[in-house]
Amino acid sequence: EEVLREIAAGEVVFSVADAVRELLENSLDAGATRVQVALWGGGLERLLVRDNGQGIPKEELPLAVERHTTSKLERLDRIQTLGFRGEGLYALRQAGRLRLTSRPREQLGAATVEAFLDEVRFYAHPGPPGTEAELKDLFLHLPARRRGLSPKEEERKVLLLLFRYLLHHPHLALGVRADGEERFVYPGGGFLEAAKAVWGPVVANRLLKVEHREGPYALEGLLSRPELARPRRDRLFLAVNGRPAEWPEGLLKAVLSAYRELLPKNSFPVGVLNLTLPPEEVLVHTAPEKARLRLLKDLSPFVEEGVRRALTSVPLAR
Ligand code: ADP
Ligand code: MG
Repeated sequence: EEVLREIAAGEVVFSVADAVRELLENSLDAGATRVQVALWGGGLERLLVRDNGQGIPKEELPLAVERHTTSKLERLDRIQTLGFRGEGLYALRQAGRLRLTSRPREQLGAATVEAFLDEVRFYAHPGPPGTEAELKDLFLHLPARRRGLSPKEEERKVLLLLFRYLLHHPHLALGVRADGEERFVYPGGGFLEAAKAVWGPVVANRLLKVEHREGPYALEGLLSRPELARPRRDRLFLAVNGRPAEWPEGLLKAVLSAYRELLPKNSFPVGVLNLTLPPEEVLVHTAPEKARLRLLKDLSPFVEEGVRRALTSVPLAR
């Protein structure tokens, strides 16, 4: 119960991208290797996320949409999954009509729970393994939240969000459809394949591999050759233990200082970095998007060394 108080932040869904993030994180936590996303009307009318993950046993399915029910949380100081509050699905059923259909591979049939505000319906039926979540009529009963959201803009934000997650989880096969048309197909691969799919081959061909390990610490991903620098850091992404994160100031400095004078002034490389460390050394902020986090140890020397090594393959003069 103390844990509940600590995570009291309360998940709130303000946009289609918020909803997609909750569903995608659930799929990743469930070990999915394939995810299909479909939007209608930018996802405001209807949104579908289907995965091939471990599924939810029939008897747990009605619990999954209740508040503070999670199968993941053991200790708040040792978070290993993207979700841990048991609030995602609960927030979704406050935002729209939620349907969750699931089947663990070893279970004979599938089951569905439909939930919207206080109404819940449950039924069992035949169906394939995996989980499919549908959200309909997003914010229809919350005109203040719906106002100002346009289908085109929501679709754009969803794609950006999916790209971000894909860069950090490049093994994931991902398909995106909007209003019945294919928008994006990615068969799964490594960092380079994901970067190609998201940023295109011109950018991807200027990326250097980063791979640095020391005990329980790992830094992996791609960083651009210095000549690919951008005036903003809108294409320089960090994830910590699989969770897309905002850059802790010190780590960003470490990356930039590894480039030294190779990088034009006031510019940033393009790249994606996955930092892995023991979960007890990360404090996941209790704000809903969980993107702000604190590292208990200073990993700047480790990060700087990792980046410097990647850059040693760059000739000093172009
Ligand atoms: P949290 O992710 O914080 O645990 P959620 O409300 O998002 O909370 O999900 C509640 C529970 O439902 C999860 O703990 C998990 O057991 C189950 N669940 C939700 N989505 C999926 C999925 N796609 N595959 C397997 N299990 C799922
Ligand atoms: Mg969740």
